[in-house]
Amino acid sequence: MKTRKITLSEQEIPEHWYNIVADMPNKPLPPLHPGTKEPIGPEALAPLFPQELIQQEVSTEKWISIPEEVRNIYSIWRPTPLFRAYELEKALDTPAKIYYKYEGVSPAGSHKPNTAVPQAYYNMKEGVKRITTETGAGQWGSALSFACNIFGLECEVYMVKLSYEHKPYRKVMMNTWGAKVIPSPSEFTEAGRKILAEDPNSPGSLGIAISEAVEMAAQREDTKYALGSVLNHVLLHQTIIGLEAYKQLEKAGDLPDVVIAPFGGGSNFAGLSFPFLRLNFDEGKKIRCIASEPTSCPKLTRGVFRYDFGDTVGMTPLLPMYTLGHNFVPAPIHAGGLRYHGAGAIVSQLLKDGLIEAQAHDNVEVFEAGIKFAKAEGIIPAPEATHGIATVIREAERCKREGKSETILFNLCGHGNFDMKAYQDYFEGKIVRHELTDEDIQKSLAALDTPVIG
Ligand SMILES: *Cc1c(COP(=O)(O)O)cnc(C)c1O
Repeated sequence: MKTRKITLSEQEIPEHWYNIVADMPNKPLPPLHPGTKEPIGPEALAPLFPQELIQQEVSTEKWISIPEEVRNIYSIWRPTPLFRAYELEKALDTPAKIYYKYEGVSPAGSHKPNTAVPQAYYNMKEGVKRITTETGAGQWGSALSFACNIFGLECEVYMVKLSYEHKPYRKVMMNTWGAKVIPSPSEFTEAGRKILAEDPNSPGSLGIAISEAVEMAAQREDTKYALGSVLNHVLLHQTIIGLEAYKQLEKAGDLPDVVIAPFGGGSNFAGLSFPFLRLNFDEGKKIRCIASEPTSCPKLTRGVFRYDFGDTVGMTPLLPMYTLGHNFVPAPIHAGGLRYHGAGAIVSQLLKDGLIEAQAHDNVEVFEAGIKFAKAEGIIPAPEATHGIATVIREAERCKREGKSETILFNLCGHGNFDMKAYQDYFEGKIVRHELTDEDIQKSLAALDTPVIG
């Protein structure tokens, strides 16, 4: 029998996260104060995050040890399996070898608990009683609810109202783990009341929900805020994915030529690819790492590199990022996790320096890819994950044209079992190609008055 699934024992769960900042030729530029636009130090983040996470955010140490308590919780679902996608290879008739790391086995069904658990842990250690956050489609909210429950913390989730009404099952999941879920915009915050005064029927947005969650956390001593992507410490925690995958591929006697992952704020892409970029830095390897984004939210392939806010209202520090502008409103595609205007600072610098690549895929192309994958390999991918699969298919077809048997590794960052509405819309012909014109992008960028870089 061929080996399809490459597993590790619980004892082999990595003991350190990998901090790529230590190896970057150009370090990310510092965040700026939203008002004064002067560089801010780590202390400015103290009202929102516990000390340990702030230290990780600015750390240049190459390896950061994973607390025993966190590895212990990780062992509920980690190490996650690495699969050789024999059936997809056959379906594509490609000489390429395709592997995928499957993060959908976590209790919340995605990679997000990899950072939710350490974030909740450090908050608990420092005496925090309550964490606020925002969620769009509900992946991050459910991961944080799961983690807060483990460490006895209250969890308050501001959920974009449109999703709150249209995706009730993710909300029930959060309630099951004991979280309080509030449709955003709400009457509980100044930011929410301001939006509601202008538009009582506002469907909400991720940017508004972030403003509400941050406002609530800043008000109370016992409350902190948590973010599920973009920030350096979040990317750091996700490197557990690539570190495991490297061990698993070693067992299989393989090393990837190409590493691929879908891209929202950058955390699952960073998680899989950074430990392989390390081999480029340390051993002179030439592994290509490709981020996959939707053509309807193409910050990496069509955005600009400059300072921008993380939220819509302009409350967060300014970060150096590839962005479409913080007022950019992406089309309502089903891959909610990829509908974010900007990219994290580390990933943006790597792209700027030509150390990683990006590709964009249309909404129809990704559903075709997702269904091809489900038919071949069985697992129904999250709508976000189908973007990575579309890039895999492109690369596998290139290998076929060029007659190369390259090794491709990708991140199946979540299952789509809660996303049947998305697949239903596709089968009913409601998913259409969506063209974003240069004018649309220029209009959003022209409205930016944030600092330019270089
Ligand atoms: C949140 C999410 C994403 C996008 O976020 P990243 O930080 O870029 O990983 C992608 N896929 C799934 C399944 C998600 O839940």
